[in-house]
Amino acid sequence: MGHLKLHIPGPVEVSEKTWKAMATPMIGHRSENFQDLYSKVQPQLQELLGTERLVYLSTSSAWGIMEGAIRNLVNEKLLCCMCGAFSDKWLDVANRCGIKAEGLQVEWGSPILPKKIDEKLDSGNFDAITLVHNETSTGLMNPLEDISKLKEKYPDVMFIVDSVTSMTAVPLHFDKLGIDVLLAGTQKAWALPPGFGIFVVSAKALERAAKTETRGYYFDFLEFQKNAEKNMTPSTPSIPHINAMSSKLDEFFSEGLDNRFARHQKTNKMTREWASKHGFTLFPDAGYESISLTCVNNGAKKEGRIVDVPRLQNLMKEKGILIDGGYGKIKGLAFRLSNMGDETEETIGDLITKLDDSMKELG
Ligand SMILES: *Cc1c(COP(=O)(O)O)cnc(C)c1O
Repeated sequence: MGHLKLHIPGPVEVSEKTWKAMATPMIGHRSENFQDLYSKVQPQLQELLGTERLVYLSTSSAWGIMEGAIRNLVNEKLLCCMCGAFSDKWLDVANRCGIKAEGLQVEWGSPILPKKIDEKLDSGNFDAITLVHNETSTGLMNPLEDISKLKEKYPDVMFIVDSVTSMTAVPLHFDKLGIDVLLAGTQKAWALPPGFGIFVVSAKALERAAKTETRGYYFDFLEFQKNAEKNMTPSTPSIPHINAMSSKLDEFFSEGLDNRFARHQKTNKMTREWASKHGFTLFPDAGYESISLTCVNNGAKKEGRIVDVPRLQNLMKEKGILIDGGYGKIKGLAFRLSNMGDETEETIGDLITKLDDSMKELG
């Protein structure tokens, strides 16, 4: 079989231009050339993430930073906000790290509401929380701005936020949000190859890390800060990824960030409308749908249309496109269509034409 165009919610399709940038000849990671490269992307990353803090580059997938964040910041007890596969898993990760943690579980497809977090934090037992902004498994976007307002009431609680499938798709202003860690891997909303991560950490989080003896080595926040001040990374980074990221950042700014965000809104509306045109409902609660992917209900909620998802996936494969068949406990009971990264009205239009044809063939 030839290459299948990826419309799964990660990894997503990587452009020829990005592959070319990745193949830039190698340089030494302690060289001036490397410092030039980092100091070129640094202000672009700061503008993208609305921060004056230094943005760190991690040679790991998102989970590395996610584990690192709790190892650096939790001294007492962690509250894990859980609403889907990725957010649920964070509790498991904390347990495996020997970190005391408790889950705040809501039903898959429902959002985490600030009131629920407030009730938990009010006990005074927690010194950190984890939150997944865009829960990729359920296609749900949590109300990050409202949740972040709790920071005023609980300034000493570290707010750790995963934005793997929202960073670059929606505006994120780290400094304005006032949160403590914002992190992402590169293979989803960024449309870079997998294996790399980006994160930003508050001054308060660095103070906390300094007091945490078991923060480990590879993801030691203090090492990231010390090195970033010199436009370097603690260990040898994936320099090809940074070259690719540099090319991608240039694309973001030549398109214009607002245009990029508007493009995601438009293309996401197209996939949602496709679902409702065929009688499907969406899996996430109304008002909390993601804008970087669409999670179509297919029997998980007892309403709307149901199709044979593996057959639909096969019919799409015959047309050169890979779509997702649902994740974790809702596999087959929902399916997901990604509009992350470089997708345009034209490419999503093509996806929809092929989905329409496949639905006809399904009968
Ligand atoms: C994919 C994903 C992750 C995991 O990323 P890895 O790159 O596999 O470590 C974490 N959080 C969210 C929201 C994701 O979508």
